[in-house]
Amino acid sequence: MTADQPDLEGRIAQVSAAVAEAAEAAGRRASDVTLVAVSKRHPVQQIVAARDAGLTVFGENKVQEAEDKIPRIGGVSWHLVGHLQRNKAKKAIELFELIHSLDSVRLADTLDRLGRARGRPVEALVEVNAADEASKHGFAWEEVEAAVARLAGREGLHIRGLMTMPPFFDDPERARPYFRRLRETAARIAEQDLPGVSMEHLSMGMTADYPVAISEGATLVRVGTAIFGPRP
Ligand SMILES: *Cc1c(COP(=O)(O)O)cnc(C)c1O
Repeated sequence: MTADQPDLEGRIAQVSAAVAEAAEAAGRRASDVTLVAVSKRHPVQQIVAARDAGLTVFGENKVQEAEDKIPRIGGVSWHLVGHLQRNKAKKAIELFELIHSLDSVRLADTLDRLGRARGRPVEALVEVNAADEASKHGFAWEEVEAAVARLAGREGLHIRGLMTMPPFFDDPERARPYFRRLRETAARIAEQDLPGVSMEHLSMGMTADYPVAISEGATLVRVGTAIFGPRP
């Protein structure tokens, strides 16, 4: 490690400071933004080190990988940030407190049924496919408001907000219109006062663009590389 390549603790301190700075610059409190450390493909040992350095919320994108890692790491909470196949939904709700990637009505049906069966609703965010990319999942902008209305009022499912992942741009400012649109869409949905729907969370912003996302209202930023370094 050289002085200009900080170690894990140093990177966590840098990202935490950048989160606080972006929040304050936007007139928000640092505590309004939760850093979700995306630990996919990083080993348990690194995640434990990140926990011991003070991080409390971690994100994984695959149920199978998470199933192996999560039981070995206590004392933190876990979010699923990747696409969820319905045949893995039961396992997923045992492992994760929040599903960021509710991307179809069929998956919502499954989660609702599982939530009712266990007597506690599944907490989820509805994903928007921001630039209509074939490689990404989620509802189109044009359909997301109707979709959330359709998912409302289910005993086994609480919709807690929206999530999106714009294309990668070298200039993070180019992601801003997508983040802004997510915030405006969530505000319109919130006005409808739908049962079982609250719009307190906007999950948006990754290593390349989280300060911009925070300035547009992100409450959950999903940061991997800036914390853990490049994925092995
Ligand atoms: C991998 C991943 C991230 C983190 O990406 P970085 O660029 O490493 O910060 C965030 N969100 C999702 C959905 C991911 O799959």
